[in-house]
Amino acid sequence: MKMKKLFTQIFVSYLLLLIFTIFILAAYELDVQGKFYKQEVKKDLLARANLAAAILRNTDWGEKQKLDSLTGVLSKHGNVRLTIIRRDGLVLSDSHKDAAQMDNHADRPEIKQALQGKVGFSMRHSYTLKKELVYLAIPFRSHGKISGFVRVAFPYAAFRQSLQDLQYHFLFGGFIVILLTAVLSYITSRRISKPLENIKEGAQRFAQGQFSPPVTEKGTQEIQALANTLNTMAGQLDKRIRTISLQRNEQEAMLRSMKEGILAIDIHERILSINQVALKFFNIEEKDVRKHPVYEVIRHKDMLDFIRRALASKKYLEDEITVTEGKERVLLLHGDVLSDVQGRMIGTLIVMNNITRIKQLDRMRQEFVANVSHELKTPITSIKGYVETLREGAAEDPKTRNRFLDIIARQSDRMNAIIDDLLQLSKIEQRYGKLNIDLQPKELLPVIRSAISACRQKADEKHITIEVECDTRLSALINSPLLEQALVNLLDNAIKYSNAGGRVRVVAETDGQLLRLSVQDWGCGIEKQYQHRLFERFYRVDKGRSREMGGTGLGLAIVKHIALAHKGKVSVKSVPGEGSVFCIELRKGSSN
Ligand code: ADP
Repeated sequence: MKMKKLFTQIFVSYLLLLIFTIFILAAYELDVQGKFYKQEVKKDLLARANLAAAILRNTDWGEKQKLDSLTGVLSKHGNVRLTIIRRDGLVLSDSHKDAAQMDNHADRPEIKQALQGKVGFSMRHSYTLKKELVYLAIPFRSHGKISGFVRVAFPYAAFRQSLQDLQYHFLFGGFIVILLTAVLSYITSRRISKPLENIKEGAQRFAQGQFSPPVTEKGTQEIQALANTLNTMAGQLDKRIRTISLQRNEQEAMLRSMKEGILAIDIHERILSINQVALKFFNIEEKDVRKHPVYEVIRHKDMLDFIRRALASKKYLEDEITVTEGKERVLLLHGDVLSDVQGRMIGTLIVMNNITRIKQLDRMRQEFVANVSHELKTPITSIKGYVETLREGAAEDPKTRNRFLDIIARQSDRMNAIIDDLLQLSKIEQRYGKLNIDLQPKELLPVIRSAISACRQKADEKHITIEVECDTRLSALINSPLLEQALVNLLDNAIKYSNAGGRVRVVAETDGQLLRLSVQDWGCGIEKQYQHRLFERFYRVDKGRSREMGGTGLGLAIVKHIALAHKGKVSVKSVPGEGSVFCIELRKGSSN
């Protein structure tokens, strides 16, 4: 329903009330005035009739001519129509008409009333004069008895005109009064409604969160009190909103800075709060998901199951889930009851820890133990087998015994090599894993030379030549024993996987702030599909061949860790049948 404005309501009510009052008053006054006027006319006519009767008392009503002339004179001076009527209704004389031509008047209402001794009065049509007249008749008595009637008449038009004049004056006056009061009521209505409208605008402003300036309405006592109350309320509201938004900002900042994913759910499974980390875990893009049902936002079955379990159990729960939305992650979920200040359960709070890295490390550790056990198991089994055979009598034959002992020695060397490599790897990881490696500015050529001399014997055995390309002044921030070890491993592989009589090339060069050390051979090369796994521990392309050559599968893993300890990286380029280039890239540091 459309509400009327206060101004319209006051103004229209005022106006209607006024018009109604004026109308009633005017009608009443007109009635009173009309009656009064009628009374006055009646009095006037009565006076004239009495006067005429007094004059006619001394006249003989039988003398028609004399009566007619008197009637004429009295009518002219009295400014009325005068009729003399006999008791039986016969008209004896009339000032405006010949009496002989007039019919009997005994049935006329004024005559009927006069016959009863009263003053007869009527307003009616005159059949004689054919117009509206006001009649007044009085009985004429002689010797105490009614012998006739004196009747005076006055045109009704004049009477009506006077009444209409009166009505017109009243109407005009009423109109002026209405006009004046309309203006007055407009001003009054405005004075009442305007301050209220100003207060309404202020209240609307407050509702939109705009609390200044305050409402300054000076009007009546009540209006001012209303404005004051409104301003006080706005002040309190402003204070409360500020406190709430401050608390909310603090809460959001806390949630944002947390490493854990946080998700609060109400008992109807709607999201109360979710932080950035949790959104990232489930690859959710929408910014405002509050109040949304959780199953519309998170579509992960295990997670939804956990939320439902947490809501149903009403106690602390823990579980592990794997999410594949975006990046694959393993999350450790903690669910606990979310209560309000009265301690009533309002939902559940879920904290998510990303334990992907821990899980990975754990898996790597398990794999590593399995690999080490496997690698050591082979030589141990072999040694055990030969020792048994020797015990069972093979030791008697010197030739067989020597051959077996050679094999046992080779297998022991192999185990030794594996354990050496493992120790070295763990040393690099432990000592330099925290990236606090001891780096010194050192020339590179001596380091390269030292590595080559360590491999010289093996190279000579296969008639392999080793070429070096390195500026004598080239130096960098390095840990020389570690870098030498890495070069030895690369050179050892290059020699191992090159054909006899081949060549190996070691190059050290700079590229801006980068130092690149590469070891190239023209040996068997490596298939593309195996290249990305070469730097894993115990990874070998051809296990049998590597073992035969005394390889442990740890050489390149050691190279990778040495490069990482130098904040550098290692890479390989290789074409099967053409050869390989292994490259270590380090930051040169401040030295040249
Ligand atoms: P390994 O002790 O078996 O040599 P590495 O970690 O040093 O172990 O090397 C891993 C594997 O990478 C080797 O088994 C071999 O298959 C391959 N590889 C390494 N260097 C070369 C190379 N220069 N040419 C061809 N294959 C190589």
